[in-house]
Amino acid sequence: MSNPLLKTASLPAFSSIQPEHIEPALDQLLASNRQRVDDLLKAEQTPGKSFLASIEQWDDELEQLWSPISHLHGVKNSDALRDAYNACLPKLTEYGTEMGQNTQLYQAYKQLADSDVYGQLNEAEQKSVDNALRDFTLSGIALKPEQQKRYGEIKKQLAELSTQFSNNVLDATHGWSKHIDDAEELAGIPESVLQGYQQAAAAKELSGYLISLDIPAYLPLMQYCENSALRQEMYTAYTTRASDQGPNAGQWDNSELMDTILALRYELALLLGFNNYAERSLATKMAESPEQVEGFLNALAEKSIAVAKQDYKELEAFANSLGVTTLSAWDIPFYSEKLRLQKYDLSQEELRPYFPSAKVIEGMFTVVNRLFGIECNEVSDVETWHPDVRFYHIERDGEVIAKFYLDIFAREHKRGGAWMADCRVRRQLSATEQQLPVAFLTCNFTPPTETTPSLLTHNEVTTLFHEFGHGLHHMLTEINCAAVSGINGVPWDAVELPSQFMENWCWQKEAIPLISGHHQTGEVLPDNLLEKMLAAKNFQSGMMMARQLEFSLFDMLMHHHYSPENPRSIQTVLDEVREKVSVYPVPEFNRFQHGFGHIFAGGYAAGYYSYKWAEVLSADAFSRFEEEGIFNQATGESFLQEILQRGGSKEPMALFTAFRGREPDIDALLRHSGIVTTRKVA
Ligand SMILES: [Zn+2]
Repeated sequence: MSNPLLKTASLPAFSSIQPEHIEPALDQLLASNRQRVDDLLKAEQTPGKSFLASIEQWDDELEQLWSPISHLHGVKNSDALRDAYNACLPKLTEYGTEMGQNTQLYQAYKQLADSDVYGQLNEAEQKSVDNALRDFTLSGIALKPEQQKRYGEIKKQLAELSTQFSNNVLDATHGWSKHIDDAEELAGIPESVLQGYQQAAAAKELSGYLISLDIPAYLPLMQYCENSALRQEMYTAYTTRASDQGPNAGQWDNSELMDTILALRYELALLLGFNNYAERSLATKMAESPEQVEGFLNALAEKSIAVAKQDYKELEAFANSLGVTTLSAWDIPFYSEKLRLQKYDLSQEELRPYFPSAKVIEGMFTVVNRLFGIECNEVSDVETWHPDVRFYHIERDGEVIAKFYLDIFAREHKRGGAWMADCRVRRQLSATEQQLPVAFLTCNFTPPTETTPSLLTHNEVTTLFHEFGHGLHHMLTEINCAAVSGINGVPWDAVELPSQFMENWCWQKEAIPLISGHHQTGEVLPDNLLEKMLAAKNFQSGMMMARQLEFSLFDMLMHHHYSPENPRSIQTVLDEVREKVSVYPVPEFNRFQHGFGHIFAGGYAAGYYSYKWAEVLSADAFSRFEEEGIFNQATGESFLQEILQRGGSKEPMALFTAFRGREPDIDALLRHSGIVTTRKVA
């Protein structure tokens, strides 16, 4: 076996992996996995622990093969790699679907769950079996043949409709643009943005400026363009995309499609035994019921709307002072930006000199050392994909418990953004031995030059802490059952808890001396700058909250209360929500929902609330540190034991409650966003 992708090892053999290894390795492993699963199902009369161990082992072999490929595709792309990757994707999907719809495999799990074996499993193993059965059921495998057929039809139709929805939005976005010759009309817009408009015009062999409805072109115009009539025209075109309104009314109209999507989702949910699609969506999430989510969103609304109204009043007064009597929807981003500049003129660039990346990383390691008693030690002589990559061991009480690659600089052939991905998952190898978790941490910060070290903006510092939080969740796990170890099996409305939680230390006065130091003078970030940053962070936080609540409530209520007998249109639901939480009037022609891809084309249907939900969890978890000391070791130990080490082995609500001593409370988030200033004492 000379193919490095077919050897299991504690780390991938990066120096020997070649694009030509990829497809043959995958073909061979998928074929062998199919055969092994088949043989296993034939041989096992009553599936026992060894059944679970075998499935885990084969899944892990696939994971070990694919994780470095998927990673290299992101950080060291090439034509040959991309071709191999693209050739493999459909094969992986097909394999996944096949396993998810393998009736015999489902029966084997069911048999195991109903037998005495189940009682002998530990909590994590039981949870992994429960999850597997849940996912099988949600894939329609337990339905009668006729229902199963209908289920398949609906799934297929929904997939097509989602694609069509996105295509309509895309076509509508590109189907309208504004051509301008006279630079006067664009007064106020930054030079770099204008250059973009000029390039867009030149690309179409036009003179002057071409402004499209793509966000990088649209947003700066709304924020900076002095010309109110032009803002109005752009706003109208943007908010009526793919609808029955606006300059392209009726063309690419999503209206009917959206009704059909809702009807099909409802039918699908009923087939699976739910009362509505909101229940179906929550079946795999931390939130337990649509009512619970609505209660949560309403509680946030109750506390925030007054502040949102104040934010708006302030904006109105500001605009009045500049001679504007009525604020229209297309004036809001423009005057908001002016007000923000007036109140908090603080650029991220000014902060860079205080955050050399080496200092920040060292400080971050000190933070987690003080919190969780772990040490991050750099190790050399490890194969990587680029000389910039660093490799670390995480040790606790002198024992290596996890490892990670840190690749923080932007470079050619590397995808933008920041993320954490797993390279190896923790799991039991033998009675005495575990596979250690390994993570890939990737960012795209500015590399050093010959004269200046790499310097981060504060946003980038926060990003680094965020991804490291995901990494800690993956790496500090003590769970030895792969399916629920680390971030595996953690519902997506809970998975951002550790990451957003870690961000808090970037804003703490006590932590700033650890993570900042001017690259020339060594001076720690001054207090007045930190205070300014905190104030700027919460600028218009009431209005922002109101907007997020509008989207979340609309999404949840629409999916929760839809039924064929219920004649309320999508527009009516949205209007009702706006009536309740919107702090300024929205023009009648606005068809925001026709471009709301998150819920009509993406995976956020009846799940948009997750953003706020996760923020509440992380803010509330952190508030225990505010109460007990942000470097309190005992509190850190408790977070480690109750949350980070447990992975997906238990319901997140139970884990959270164990750590916090009660269910999540919205107060901390409201306080951190500056919406509520007093602290409840209980
Ligand atoms: Zn995240």
